[in-house]
Amino acid sequence: MRSCDALIIGGGVTGTAIARELSQYRLKVILCEKEEELAFGVSKSNSGIIHPGTQNVPGSLKGRLCVEGNALTKAIARELDVDFKQVGELIVAFSQSEVGRLIRIKEDAQRLGVKGLRMVDNAWLRDHEPNLNPDIPAALFAPSAGIISPYRWVYALALNAQQNGVEIMTRTRVAAIERLSGAGRGGMFLRVMTTSAEYDARFVINCAGLHADAVARMAGIDDFSIRPRKGEEFILDKKREHLTNHLIFPLPTPVSKGVLMIKTSDGNPMIGPSALDTEDKDDLSTTEGGLRTVLADARRLVPSVSERDIIAYFAGLRPVAGDDFIIRHEDRASGMVTVAGIQSPGLTCAPAIAKLVSRLLKEHGLDLRRKIFFRRHRRAMNHLFSIPLSRTARLVRLDPSYGDIVCRCEMVSAREISDAIAEGATTMDGIKFRTRAQAGRCHGSFCTCRLMKILADETGRKVIEVTKRGECSEIVLKDRGDDQ
Ligand SMILES: Cc1cc2nc3c(=O)[nH]c(=O)nc-3n(C[C@H](O)[C@H](O)[C@H](O)COP(=O)(O)OP(=O)(O)OC[C@H]3O[C@@H](n4cnc5c(N)ncnc54)[C@H](O)[C@@H]3O)c2cc1C
Repeated sequence: MRSCDALIIGGGVTGTAIARELSQYRLKVILCEKEEELAFGVSKSNSGIIHPGTQNVPGSLKGRLCVEGNALTKAIARELDVDFKQVGELIVAFSQSEVGRLIRIKEDAQRLGVKGLRMVDNAWLRDHEPNLNPDIPAALFAPSAGIISPYRWVYALALNAQQNGVEIMTRTRVAAIERLSGAGRGGMFLRVMTTSAEYDARFVINCAGLHADAVARMAGIDDFSIRPRKGEEFILDKKREHLTNHLIFPLPTPVSKGVLMIKTSDGNPMIGPSALDTEDKDDLSTTEGGLRTVLADARRLVPSVSERDIIAYFAGLRPVAGDDFIIRHEDRASGMVTVAGIQSPGLTCAPAIAKLVSRLLKEHGLDLRRKIFFRRHRRAMNHLFSIPLSRTARLVRLDPSYGDIVCRCEMVSAREISDAIAEGATTMDGIKFRTRAQAGRCHGSFCTCRLMKILADETGRKVIEVTKRGECSEIVLKDRGDDQ
């Protein structure tokens, strides 16, 4: 039996941001994630936008955390050497009659504290967004919107938390939570039974995304449920990188921000996401209907977008628990903290959620004393796709394995693959999310075998044991007597 001050359930952006935040205090913190690697839940399938806070109800928790999260993400990304780019967003009106709604969005956002907002007209749009539908009369410009790689963000938060002493356990599913009486200063301890060990924890922080309702029920909390809302997204060829200069939004619908033209930190533009309520928490299928809707809506924004530009697609499920986030200490189950319903803009809000959670822990008796040595900064691994060729040449001189290109589409070297494995990648998706190898137009046709070989060699496994994303996603079908 091991004990800790805080046990975090869920290794998505919310859980890892909380882990990093708590790692600056003298606490024993453990994070449990059921999947083979971190960021394999909702945090792997989103638009990667760091929203400015323009499309939230003024009094909402989401809205407040979004504005704060935007500023914090920018600052922490710099500390952790993660590629955040402040590209700005345009919310467009398709007719003069929609301009009034834009003005109301601007006023609401200003009340929330969003800075730098201004209306721009058709002439401005023609100058700054030549591919935009020329009939769009006006747009609201929000300069603080940005883009980030959601996976590299999660991995950076987690690695920095680990550097500062947080213990991260993947392949560890929380199966039961028991309330214990008569312990610690801030209330009762909780006993957490997982698939790998049992822990006594002063606080348990439930950031289990789509399964936060199931985890809450383990502790006797049953007043909310999570309903998934599916979003399908379509990735365009990198050749279309400069299709737009900003993130482009239509006016929001009652359930989502609408179909967007998305710039990504890796260069490939994306179109999407759709928004469709579903019952199935595992339904990550993409559909012909989703493609048609997204394509038609995207063409209203940028008419030249073509189906031929699409190189890949995915779906993500927003964990919806009503209109707003649920972030609270559970007085009925002392020590239990719920962080649920973290739908969009959860990626943006994560660092602000982390600060809110640490305040909740303090209010409920946790002594937050700062560590004398907190390692605030981290250097990211080199990514050849994001540096000039002159720097690549210097790296190759220092280490020739930078010149051994494994993924030709995205120019990923053997050295980067090794660095990703050293940082914790154990699956093919883990390598892809960290390096972009297999994420190009050929989808790994050229590099998959080589990647599997490197992954097997460097993790001491057989090639047939390599998986795409953990158990039951083996790439090579095992034949009787096959041993290699
Ligand atoms: C299509 C789409 C587009 C989006 N775009 C944006 C955007 O552009 N900007 C933005 O700000 N937000 C966006 N979002 C929202 C954002 O992705 C989410 O709010 C965020 O990723 C939620 O992170 P999380 O850590 O709370 O959940 P998750 O990433 O799902 O993490 C929860 C983790 O808990 C683990 N878990 C569950 N049960 C257990 C258990 N019993 N034991 C151990 N582990 C468990 C899961 O495996 C999972 O890894 C988008 C969402 C979608 C679906």
